[in-house]
Amino acid sequence: MRAEKKSKSRAKAKVMKKSKQSIDKLIKEGNYNSKTKEVRVITGKKLHCADWQIEGILRMLFNVLDVNVGRDPENLVVYGGFGKAARSWECFETIVNTLLTLQEDETLVIQSGKPVAVFKTHKLAPRMVMCNSMLVGKWANWEHFWELEKKGLIMYGQYTAGSWNYIGTQGILQGTFETFASVADEHFGGTLKGRFALTAGLGAMGSAQPLAIKMNDGIGLLVEVDEKMIKRSIEGGLLDAWTANFDKAVKMVREAKRKKKAISIGLLGNAADILPKLLRKNMIPDVVTDQTPAHDPSSYIPSRLSVKEAEKLRAEDPKKYVKMAMKSMRKHVEAIVSFAEKGAVAFEYGNNIRKNAYDTGFKKAFTYPGFIQAYLRPMLEAGRGPFRWTSLQGNPEDIDKLDDVIIKEFGYNKRLMRWIEKARKYVRFQGLPARVCWLGYGERARFGRIVNDMVADGEIGPIWVGRDHLDTGSVASPYRETEGMKDGSDAVADWPILNALLNTCAGATWIAVHQGGGMGMGYSTSAGFGMVLDGTKETEEKALRLFTFDPGIGVVRHADAGYEISRRIIKEKGIKAPMTR
Ligand code: NAD
Repeated sequence: MRAEKKSKSRAKAKVMKKSKQSIDKLIKEGNYNSKTKEVRVITGKKLHCADWQIEGILRMLFNVLDVNVGRDPENLVVYGGFGKAARSWECFETIVNTLLTLQEDETLVIQSGKPVAVFKTHKLAPRMVMCNSMLVGKWANWEHFWELEKKGLIMYGQYTAGSWNYIGTQGILQGTFETFASVADEHFGGTLKGRFALTAGLGAMGSAQPLAIKMNDGIGLLVEVDEKMIKRSIEGGLLDAWTANFDKAVKMVREAKRKKKAISIGLLGNAADILPKLLRKNMIPDVVTDQTPAHDPSSYIPSRLSVKEAEKLRAEDPKKYVKMAMKSMRKHVEAIVSFAEKGAVAFEYGNNIRKNAYDTGFKKAFTYPGFIQAYLRPMLEAGRGPFRWTSLQGNPEDIDKLDDVIIKEFGYNKRLMRWIEKARKYVRFQGLPARVCWLGYGERARFGRIVNDMVADGEIGPIWVGRDHLDTGSVASPYRETEGMKDGSDAVADWPILNALLNTCAGATWIAVHQGGGMGMGYSTSAGFGMVLDGTKETEEKALRLFTFDPGIGVVRHADAGYEISRRIIKEKGIKAPMTR
């Protein structure tokens, strides 16, 4: 007994010593510059932490901060307005130090981006649990949030920024591809060939739009107010061309329409100015949507302001800024509604812009639907969602091998095959090489077992698996994922909490619960997880549970609300749901 204790404490001391060296090494190797605050992905086979479970957490934290496209990386902003990875640089450094010394039977607790505790739990428990921007209902608004943020008490985690699941633009690309594919199926005979799709915002999520439109053979016109973001999309191979000249953009779209040529064109300008201008010109798109950061009025750039002017006003007079942004959003939505009245297919792309326009008194704001309700719900009913993985060692060939597994195992899903084929052709990896695939109930567990076996056999290195919070059973967001639920249960937030609790029972590597992601403060409750597949038997058991419970609660949630696809799956797969008929 005493000998065992001695050897345990020797092992602990070894980890402590090793990690101390590793911190220096991480800085020395250029993964973190404590002066400039630059963070670079950690790759390779060398462990810095006690095991791959903990190392995977560390590498995904570095990954989100490396691939970040937030407007404010100096303040750890990753994407989606002000979605952050940690509360402050001091918190970041403490998280890193804590992970470097964390033991295989301990759990790190993170409260809104601040590491607050480490508890001795047990080996099968998650190594980290986190909760971001969870405000009590009555106080869950931006005003109260910013007050707390100023005092350093809270952090906005968006969906995948604060839960370290962000993998760059690809993470949203397949969802965007699927949405435009569904629009094409429903309205245009299965293709966007020769169709003009108008949208705005080339941010972290929005920059998936041009490629997704092109993958569906359409013509995309993308309005973006920040030249830097346009150039970033061009450099990343997401956008084909751009101009600051309105007439030139119109000409390019007309020509592409005539030739039925798939192309994406960026137009520098403010959506609240450009959309009404297109309307006045009677330039009616076939499809219209938007991905400006309307979920947060202090992120949306008001009409006629440059990015610099907006930044200045935001700092000097935030109230005036929000007022101007709300007025601009109204103009923006009025134009979308007019386009729809003239025959365009319009949908909100998950940014709450209709509600903001509605709140300024525009009563017709909700005359067009949200994208989940209109196009993606059947996927969620089947337990599908944006499942994703990265090679923790940074090997692109591991992702290639896993693409082959997807093709071999799930060839019956033709749309998934089309996605893989196009993703292999068009997607450039950002940070750790990654792939996203919308897999469903049953498929995720099957895939997880195969991957873990491949890691065990040394065919590939350790793999991190996670997903967006936009998923089948992990979110309540009444103007987005749960808009217009059959039974009216749109605002019931029990489901994402149950999801997180179940996934903790399963033994995910980490669990995250968020409030306000996607649509802004007070509009959503959501949950995410991370799972490191390290090839051990123990991990296989945890992963099989996790990849079954996680989509399983989504199927049950939709069956409970009366959706037939989910009820059928419950019967076919024998899921025990005692109150579901
Ligand atoms: P982001 O903050 O990274 O980028 C927003 C972009 O919009 C920036 O490039 C900004 O310059 C530009 N912009 C701001 N105001 C503008 C205006 N008036 N006209 C033209 N361009 C303007 O945000 P993001 O991560 O790309 O997310 C965009 C929105 O989409 C957010 O509201 C987010 O919550 C939502 N979202 C949707 C989904 C989905 O599944 N559809 C997923 C995640 C996020």
